[in-house]
Amino acid sequence: MTEPTSPRIPDPSRAACVGQWQLFDPPGEDELRKHVQERWNRAVAVCAGCPVIDQCREYVDELPGRLVYGVFAGTRYGHTTNKAPRPLEASA
Ligand code: SF4
Repeated sequence: MTEPTSPRIPDPSRAACVGQWQLFDPPGEDELRKHVQERWNRAVAVCAGCPVIDQCREYVDELPGRLVYGVFAGTRYGHTTNKAPRPLEASA
């Protein structure tokens, strides 16, 4: 019998977002929607050139929905999303 495995974090030494995490964050409390969209557009462009995007997508797909808000693996999650948002208050 095999133990369940935790999602594997993409190799940070190869992640294109290193040092640019502020682009990927959820909206700030007073941040204008258009600024979030501009920031997230830049984040999506970073992801497009990331060598570990497939691993990142697998990792995000395994995370509890409440932890997924912002840009991950080239996808926007949250109120300015282009993908159905995951529940932000998922029950444990
Ligand atoms: S796909 Fe995007 S969020 Fe994921 S590691 Fe690469 S740059 Fe970062």
